[in-house]
Amino acid sequence: MTIYFDNNATTPLKDGVKQAMSEALEVYGNPSSVHACGRAARLLQDTARRKVAAMFNVRSEQVIFTSSGTEANNLVLRGFFTNPENAGKKLVISAVEHNCVHKTAVELNRLQGVPMHMVPVDREGLIDLEDLKTVLSKGNVGLVSIMHANNETGVIQPIAEVAKLCENAGVRFHTDAVQTAGKLAYSFADLGADAITLSFHKLGGPKGIGAVIIKTDFPLESHTTGGSQERNRRAGTENTLSIAGAGACAEGWQVGVDSMQNHIALLRNQLEEGLLPLANDLYIIGKNAPRVPNTTNVVVPNLIGEDAVIALDMAGFCVSTGSACSSGRVEPSRVILAHGIPADEALCALRISLGWQTTKADVEGFIAAFAKMLVRMKKAG
Ligand code: PLP
Repeated sequence: MTIYFDNNATTPLKDGVKQAMSEALEVYGNPSSVHACGRAARLLQDTARRKVAAMFNVRSEQVIFTSSGTEANNLVLRGFFTNPENAGKKLVISAVEHNCVHKTAVELNRLQGVPMHMVPVDREGLIDLEDLKTVLSKGNVGLVSIMHANNETGVIQPIAEVAKLCENAGVRFHTDAVQTAGKLAYSFADLGADAITLSFHKLGGPKGIGAVIIKTDFPLESHTTGGSQERNRRAGTENTLSIAGAGACAEGWQVGVDSMQNHIALLRNQLEEGLLPLANDLYIIGKNAPRVPNTTNVVVPNLIGEDAVIALDMAGFCVSTGSACSSGRVEPSRVILAHGIPADEALCALRISLGWQTTKADVEGFIAAFAKMLVRMKKAG
């Protein structure tokens, strides 16, 4: 049997999502068509949009559907800096953003000359608020994009403070909330951001559907040119099937983020209590920082993360690393290195991300498999 501990990569479908999508399969009209078939698709889409809006307590017109979290982050960053009123202004991100923010910022800098600043993080993965204050005090910042929680470590950034600093400086604030939606209970207003990014496959929805939620006055140009879909903010015929799935997924979360997460937090604590005594030099990245309840990133120096993933896979457990394979060589994660963790140890980072389907027996089984793997590793020298 396979036990899935990679819920930050993607999740299984939540109850009701499959049903909503199979019903949507029958609705083939184009939501932009005025005839009956088009209107049926439009209705399906509007209903789903209302459900997503309800989950975050916003109005439907604040929700812009995209093809993914990646596209949603691209839309916010590119759409903001394409708007002529933001020309010449600076983009501020953190050192631990997902590649779809990090690389987009680098591209905007390289191709459009958008000045960029990266706020460093400390050993626990928390952003340096003093650095952010300094860059804001120098003026000319257009947008601050700092993620809500990190996908590799689960560390939650102090975004209420970031939002306040941005508001005081008259600067727009975007947060990538992909790893907190469905893991923490909040409304859009609670985050204090002008724009947030979502990706539904991280919270029990289908893959290939994301969204941006914005304040209605957020300056955003469509980054695709074509039709007038999504109120001229994202051209391209909508993915009605996945939008229906996203709606069902959001409806499912209206009850129970907190109770679900309390359950997961207990299991995660049990996991960490079981892992920590297994090796003297084992440590957990971000252990002293606020974290989402489901994520543990564990380092055992000299146990290469990629090797651990394979060994644990053979034992029936799906986990992951943050490292990337480039030209056949495994590179340490940029995010883990940003914590000041040396490259040889960063290569040993292993992410275990629990889900609502995780049981106590899964966690116990994992600890036992991990212990066995360490014994084998010691024997191998
Ligand atoms: N942002 C964060 C923090 C993520 O973890 C991910 C996916 O791993 C994304 C954005 C991209 O989302 P998607 O997989 O929908 O492109």
